[in-house]
Amino acid sequence: MTYSIEDVFLIPLFLQFLALMFLGWRYRRRGYHDLRAPKAHIFRCSQCRHIYIDNRRVPLSKCTKCNTLNEMIRR
Ligand SMILES: [Zn+2]
Repeated sequence: MTYSIEDVFLIPLFLQFLALMFLGWRYRRRGYHDLRAPKAHIFRCSQCRHIYIDNRRVPLSKCTKCNTLNEMIRR
């Protein structure tokens, strides 16, 4: 079996295209956007200095240990 010059160039190109499609599909399935923009917000309790994470987008969050309302730490 012999390959023409078009096959020599097109087959690797086609395989790379397939690999890109596969990677794109995998990242979309895993939630690529969650990795780029994490939803977790860090809070530090002013009462007991406990540091915790709240996934909700709220300006104030209750401390998980002593229930004091705390502001989000600016990053
Ligand atoms: Zn606390």
